[in-house]
Amino acid sequence: MAGTTRIKGADWIVAWDESRGGHIYLQDADLVFRDKEILFVGPSYDGQADVTVDGRGTCLIPGLVNIHSHPSHELSYRGIREEHGVPEHFMSGLYERACAFKAPADAKAAISEAAYCELVLSGVTTLADLSAPYEGWAELMDKCGMRIFAAPGFASRTWRLDNHHELKFNEDIPKGRQLFDEAIAFIDQVSAHPSGRLSGIVFPGQIETCTADLLVDSIALARERGLPWTTHIAQSVVEFNLIVQWTGKTPIQWAHELGLLGPSSILGHAIFIDEHSWLHWWSKKDLGLIAETGSSVAHCPTPFSRYGQVLEDFGKYRAAGVNMGLGTDTFPQNLIEEMRTAAILARVSAHDIEAASTADVFHAATAGGAKALLRDDIGRLAVGAKADIVVVDLSNPSMRPVRDPLRSLVYSAADRAVRDVYIDGEMVVENRRVLTMDQDASLDVAREAQIRMEAAVAGTDWAGRAAEEIVPLSLPVGR
Ligand SMILES: [Zn+2]
Repeated sequence: MAGTTRIKGADWIVAWDESRGGHIYLQDADLVFRDKEILFVGPSYDGQADVTVDGRGTCLIPGLVNIHSHPSHELSYRGIREEHGVPEHFMSGLYERACAFKAPADAKAAISEAAYCELVLSGVTTLADLSAPYEGWAELMDKCGMRIFAAPGFASRTWRLDNHHELKFNEDIPKGRQLFDEAIAFIDQVSAHPSGRLSGIVFPGQIETCTADLLVDSIALARERGLPWTTHIAQSVVEFNLIVQWTGKTPIQWAHELGLLGPSSILGHAIFIDEHSWLHWWSKKDLGLIAETGSSVAHCPTPFSRYGQVLEDFGKYRAAGVNMGLGTDTFPQNLIEEMRTAAILARVSAHDIEAASTADVFHAATAGGAKALLRDDIGRLAVGAKADIVVVDLSNPSMRPVRDPLRSLVYSAADRAVRDVYIDGEMVVENRRVLTMDQDASLDVAREAQIRMEAAVAGTDWAGRAAEEIVPLSLPVGR
């Protein structure tokens, strides 16, 4: 888009205050952007503008930054994973589900498109997309208009189950190397996109599925290229116990010994650290190591809470100095609801209302995520930052009465009040409709793919069970 756009007289703007290193409220203020960049945030802009948009009745917030999500398959688990868990895996359903329920490859682009729509409609403008590469991914990133950090996964091993309780692996070390090379080539390819919206993250899948060599080489390459690096670590008790058994150390301490922790490292999800109450481990070092090394945590409370698991706790991590970012991981792909869940579970877990404030979780969903992605030009409304702007509709009944717009948004309205979304100064959502993608059509394909996925489960599950035996419907079907 050419020219200058002024959003005039917004009732509220959540603006970045560099001196505080945090967001503040402005009232009755203007926001001006030219092309991809914010030119002005403050009271009454007196320069020229080519387009003036009426900001009355709105609150402008920075586009949200989602640092951990799997859009290419998780949406196909809607109706499946909410109540699926294996008690013998300390409640996690991750391994059983991943082995038995495989989203059809030919539907991944559509499943992703549906997820991207849900994300942008809830105000996410920057997304870390952690996926196994699939046909059509680059094309989707091109057309979606969102700021995407593509994280093509690679690993030396895949999970295998032969019974109900023991996690085993199929190992193919040369394949892991090949996937690593392909992932880097893919990152190079998408980063060359002329828009500058697309970038990459180096993503060895899990701490237990990659050889030490592969992990070490991947972090070295990420540092050399100035790219963020992420992996799943301390995400389950099963993983914690395996790493202890293999190395004598907790996953975090082993990662530290390998040199994997640091300012470019994003730990998904760092829940089962040594002091977690489910582990009764003897050391109390993990949190300090995460903080000292400047590593970030990708906190995704929803999927874990459905297993009965919680990070202990958000406030303690922050107080230790850990940079916290938020992710949606599975579904709903709704980072505003994730903020609500993060705040509430922090307080429940800490037995303390001060464990996480609205400002804390909003910081994590914006500037915290940006820092994790090594960026200081997103997750904030400030001069020189990218024009990634969410227009929140204050007239939405779930926002009203509006005394404090962020509290109304986080605890009541969520995506219902997200009216318009600009990314790089381009409108991607207008009046709660996505302009760049087809939500309905992609959801139709996702449902058809879900039916095919379920039909294939008996052939992939270790016990040959049907999908409905593993995950019955929430109610019996009457006749
Ligand atoms: Zn994940």
